[in-house]
Amino acid sequence: MPHDHADLHPGQDDCLGCTSPDLAFARHDHDHCAADVLARAEQLAAASGARLTPVRKRVLEILLESHKAMGAYDVLQRLAADGFGNQPPVAYRALEFLVDQGFAHRIRRLNAFAACMHPGETHAPTFLICKACDAVAEAPAAPVRAALDAAAQAIGFAIERTNIEALGLCPACRTVAP
Ligand SMILES: [Zn+2]
Ligand SMILES: [Zn+2]
Ligand SMILES: [Zn+2]
Repeated sequence: MPHDHADLHPGQDDCLGCTSPDLAFARHDHDHCAADVLARAEQLAAASGARLTPVRKRVLEILLESHKAMGAYDVLQRLAADGFGNQPPVAYRALEFLVDQGFAHRIRRLNAFAACMHPGETHAPTFLICKACDAVAEAPAAPVRAALDAAAQAIGFAIERTNIEALGLCPACRTVAP
């Protein structure tokens, strides 16, 4: 979805990370990409009345540091280092909130979480997961979903939820793989 990030970052509206979140594997100005997504999440939370408390916001910032999935334990370690305490429920509840709000996705394959790179958009993401470095990209899922819908319809099946995850090697890891 085109979003107005010209007002957030004047003159930088050609950021690859923003205009094509699915290109998460490509080299791009990730600081800009992360700042943009965080700003959008804050706007969405303000609009919906969801409380982006300091710990929830910090967890989102941690997830946004890279396009990689992080386990709850790693998030907890980071929170503890930031002075948010060492209570696992704090990390779990913050992650749950972010998933509920659509600000993060649970990556089941890795039992980990990744920031949503286009919060606020209706999307059924297809995740491309690098098994070597845990990088995660959200691929456009519409064509995949359309094919699934057609297959389901043909046999009278009503899809309620899909969770499409593909495992493989990202471009960077492919070049070092034997
Ligand atoms: Zn990025
Ligand atoms: Zn998403
Ligand atoms: Zn990789």
